[in-house]
Amino acid sequence: MTGVSISEVAPRDGLQSIGAFVPTETKIAMVRALHAAGLRRMEVGSFVSPKHVPQMADTAAVLAAAKTLPGLECCVLVPNRRGFDLALQHGAHRLGLFMSATEQHNLANLNMTREASFDALTAIIRDTPRDVAIRFNLSCVFHCPFEGVVPEAAIQPLVERIVAIDPRMEIALCDTTGNAAPDQVARVMRAAIVVGGPRFAYHGHDTYGMGVANVAAAYEAGVRVIDSAAGGLGGCPFAPGATGNVATEDVAWMFARMGVATGIDYPALLVAADYCAGVPGGTPGGRMRGVPAARRLAA
Ligand code: ZN
Repeated sequence: MTGVSISEVAPRDGLQSIGAFVPTETKIAMVRALHAAGLRRMEVGSFVSPKHVPQMADTAAVLAAAKTLPGLECCVLVPNRRGFDLALQHGAHRLGLFMSATEQHNLANLNMTREASFDALTAIIRDTPRDVAIRFNLSCVFHCPFEGVVPEAAIQPLVERIVAIDPRMEIALCDTTGNAAPDQVARVMRAAIVVGGPRFAYHGHDTYGMGVANVAAAYEAGVRVIDSAAGGLGGCPFAPGATGNVATEDVAWMFARMGVATGIDYPALLVAADYCAGVPGGTPGGRMRGVPAARRLAA
């Protein structure tokens, strides 16, 4: 496989930490613009408790609209059994499960130990129908807001256990705080692929300006599924200091420049990125929207 698949996360990771509720029509417009730009994988929402994350209360409506777009694989985050039932009921194509690589972040974010999370997710995976895909997201793989830089030796056993749950499952190693370094990303992803084969995805944030460099390192290590958010939207209420996801327009530009196929229509992506960056309350990031030569492509 020479190309790379970009999984767009602006409608979920990009919006979850925005203070004010983003109207459902705005979210659907984002999804449509991103699909028009050629993105064919998208994290469209999260079946979390609307009490805890009011931002995602309209996930069923956004998912329904996204499912009408041809060729789009729609992923929703599933934090627990209740979310699992809702995701299946509403026909999500892929379930996004998540837990943290570090104990302190797991306790802060999910209010349970990593062992408890692992057991609960394993049970959900066992009960998932064969025609529904799974993405297992492991957060804070490289750095934790509570524990600091994560020792690489601590990650490998965890990856081995996750790999063993299900041979078909995609696994994302996530730089939740954006504090990873490219050499660390390369080593950790390479070691994971040795154990679990070419089924790993990389999810990174751009907090320290290392977003694109880390994506390049993951690609060089053999990763072929990359998460990013148009307009560099994003953040995490449970990871203090985490700002936006690495911008889709920056990642797509890099891959185009490297001659790696993404299926993306770049001028259309800039239009979508402008729209995402303009969502009221968001904190947009990324470089390419501000580069005049790129702007001329979208004009
Ligand atoms: Zn994220």
